[in-house]
Amino acid sequence: MLDAAHGGDDTGASLGSQQEKAFTLALSVRLRSLLAARGFDVVTTRESDVTVDADRRAEIANRAGAMACLSLHATEAGSGVHIFVSSLAAAGQRQFLPWRTAQAAWIPRSLELAGVLNSALSHASITVTLGRVGMPAIDSMACPAVAFEIAPLRSADAPGGQSLDDPAVQARLAEALAAALVEWRSVARGGREP
Ligand SMILES: [Zn+2]
Repeated sequence: MLDAAHGGDDTGASLGSQQEKAFTLALSVRLRSLLAARGFDVVTTRESDVTVDADRRAEIANRAGAMACLSLHATEAGSGVHIFVSSLAAAGQRQFLPWRTAQAAWIPRSLELAGVLNSALSHASITVTLGRVGMPAIDSMACPAVAFEIAPLRSADAPGGQSLDDPAVQARLAEALAAALVEWRSVARGGREP
């Protein structure tokens, strides 16, 4: 499940020549086609520049019963990719999950997903920082879920950072994320359900 954050009236952050809402949608569209080519069934929270509230995003994720839910954000600040897992305390699985804190039952799986994504992206020479954060959409998702915050990619050959306006950055990120999800699929198929 791919969630392009923001959209419509909610532009998100300003990133150089574009707005966060446009960057996240473009990345979601690009990643969706890479994943479809790798045999994934992909569900998205939006396919155009529309407003989608947090509850609707979680509802789409929860209806899909997805093996992974990725919420995509971007920022001009910092560098590399931050991967956030919900800051809710882990709670046991129950038959009925409270909507606002449904993610609590999925924290261990979400941390596992973050770990697999971290190693796959690091393997692609993308700097990753892991963190925890409270986000309404993610907190209500009943699936392994992470939020990405993508900043310009800095490296030895581009110390100023590869700008998010650079189409090559988006291509590189999408390829790395697709490879990471292929890895996650093989982990998830190992039968380790919560
Ligand atoms: Zn954002």
